[in-house]
Formats: sequence, C-alpha cells, structure tokens
Amino acid sequence: MSSVSNAAVSSRKSARLELDGMRRAFGAFNALNGIDLVIEPGEFIALLGPSGCGKSTALNCIAGLLSLTGGQIRLGGTRIDQLEPERRGFGMVFQSYALFPHMSVRKNVGFGLAMQGIKGPDAEQRISQALSLVRLESQADKLPGQLSGGQQQRVAIARAIVIRPPIVLMDEPLSNLDAKLRLEMRAEIRGIHDQIGSTTIYVTHDQDEALSLADRIVVMSQGNIEQIGSPQDLYQRPVTVEVADFMGYRTRIAGRIQRATGNDAEIEVAGVRIVGTVRTPLKIGDAAILSVRPEDLVATNNDGIAATVMSMEYRGRAFFGMARAADGADLYFSADEPLLRGSQTRLQPIPGRALIFQGAQV
Ligand code: ATP
Repeated sequence: MSSVSNAAVSSRKSARLELDGMRRAFGAFNALNGIDLVIEPGEFIALLGPSGCGKSTALNCIAGLLSLTGGQIRLGGTRIDQLEPERRGFGMVFQSYALFPHMSVRKNVGFGLAMQGIKGPDAEQRISQALSLVRLESQADKLPGQLSGGQQQRVAIARAIVIRPPIVLMDEPLSNLDAKLRLEMRAEIRGIHDQIGSTTIYVTHDQDEALSLADRIVVMSQGNIEQIGSPQDLYQRPVTVEVADFMGYRTRIAGRIQRATGNDAEIEVAGVRIVGTVRTPLKIGDAAILSVRPEDLVATNNDGIAATVMSMEYRGRAFFGMARAADGADLYFSADEPLLRGSQTRLQPIPGRALIFQGAQV
C-alpha cells in the first residue's frame, strides 16, 4: 500500500448509520420489507444474499438513488432519507465502472470534487493522493479505455473516496474481474477501507468475498434480513437452513430426529444415524434437515451414508465430488483420492461439523 498521509485522504468524520424499518416497494411488490440495521462508524459491512433478495435496492436507498416507501435512514441521529444523493455525499462504486470514457483518469477522479466546487491546487493535491492510494499515479493522463478492468475499477474507487465520503457504497465492484484480479482487489479494497477510516457497505452474492472482507455480514433473503453476524458467527452458527446453504453448507438431507440432548442430536438420514449440532429446537420424531459443507463430508470405507459417485473434480488440495443417495439426495463431499464415477462410496460428516435444523423441505 502506498505511503499517503492518512489525514489527507481520510473521510469526513463518519457517524452511526441507522436503517429503521426501511421499506421499498415497486408497485405491489415489496423489495425491502422493513430493514432494521445499525452500522457503526468505520465498520465494513457486507450485504450478502442471492440474486433478487434486495441488496442493490437497499444500497440504492442508502445512496439516495431510490426513495423509501416507508421507514427512515439516519446518519449521526439526523434523518437523511429525504436528501438528494449529492447532499448525502456518499462515495459509490458500481460493478460497471461508470467512468467517463472521454475524460482522463485524473479528470474522472476530479469530477466529484469539481461538482462540489473544489478546484485548483487543493483539488489537484486530493486527486494525486487518491490516485496514489489506488496505485495509479503513473496512469493519471490515460483515458479509461487504455486501462485494464482492474485499473478502471481502481479509478472508480479513487473517484468515490476523493470526496472524503463518510460512507462508501460498493455494489458488486469485483464481478467483472477475473478470479486472480478479484483476489488482489479484495485485499486492496479492505486496505483502502482501513486507511481512510470511512464506513463501507459492500453488496455481494459471493460468500467468500463477504467472509474475507467484512467486519459484519448481513444475510438477506426476499427483502428481509435473515441473520447479522461476524464472518465466524455466520460460518459456524448459521441460524436457518437458508443461511447455512448460503454459507456453503451445500448438502441438505431430510431425515427424522432419533435422539435430542441439548446441543447435539442424532438424525436418521438415508437409513444411517448421524450426530450433528442442533441449530433450532428439536425433539425426538421431528422432521429435520442435516446441513454439511463439502469439505466436512468425507468419503470413508465403512460407515456413513451410502451413495453413488456422480462427479469428481480436483481443486488443488483435495478432490470434491457429488454423490447421490438411494433416496435421490445429492451429497457434496471431499476425498483425498479421486473416486470413479458410478462407484459406491460411504460419506460421513467430520464430528462436530454437521448442523441440524428443524424442517422437512430441503
Ligand atoms: P442481484 O444480485 O441480482 O443484483 P439484488 O439482491 O441486488 O439482486 P435487487 O436489485 O435489489 O436485488 O432487486 C430486488 C427485487 O426488486 C427483485 O425482485 C427485482 O426484480 C425487484 N426490482 C428491483 N428494481 C426494480 C424496479 N425498478 N422495478 C421493479 N422491480 C424492481
């Protein structure tokens, strides 16, 4: 990371952001059903969820690009939901970089400052500092079309932070980049966040991105918040089977509870009894769902759920596969050795890693 003075590019003093019953409808359709969320100054928050769950709508409401149909947004205790986007002064970074193609990198970055009436040496200094923070000083006079995708996204980030926003809003900023660049830019985005000290709200549908970047993750589904927690919380203790699914607990098998003792329960799935950690209240006889991650469901030679190997792929450190149980359930598992397609295997969760939720639907 470059050695820019923090004070020069740091955000205007950030403040607590409160979403209080935030609603947005499009005609009869409720895209946001009353979102309650308090974001502390300087936090990095990821809004995570499947396509259509309302992440971008929430971000656009915060930015002021969409008006609310109910509820309030407050910054430092003051209502801002009726202010124009410019008056809120938040920095925005989109998936499509949204740069002006005919303007140089320097002019693109300076655009927001010019809109605020900041000109001359003060503007020049702030533009240089923002470009230095995203490591693009040497590209300042080029046009966006002469830059790579990653460089263009860094221009967009410089443009968002040069106005010293109290809050930076990012909507899937890395989606258009290849896998390697995504990883590099992830680290840069977190580094820039830490240097400028503003609050960042980051929309993504990629659980790895959310886990690696955020202080807290907000998992959304159908216009509601399903769970809010630290990456560790969500990874280890998802509260619903939907959140678990989203956090990579890919195998879901329906069964019936045979024993329930406090934190642990035994569920019978595909004729085999498996012990798991109870996530929702359960009693003997309940219909329930076993959720487990592929890396925690391993091929064994003896006991476990009998299944037929359907596919197998190599992922560097292990082999990952999909096998089908006799009742048709798809099981995602890992193995040290590749297994032959069509062969029989037995799959067993690593002790302590399987979760059990109440419910019959997988
Ligand atoms: P994605 O990851 O695909 O961008 P998202 O979680 O960001 O999804 P939103 O773009 O917030 O989802 O959309 C939430 C819901 O609101 C969707 O069902 C979408 O079809 C609907 N929606 C969004 N914008 C409009 C609009 N302008 N008019 C009507 N419906 C809309």
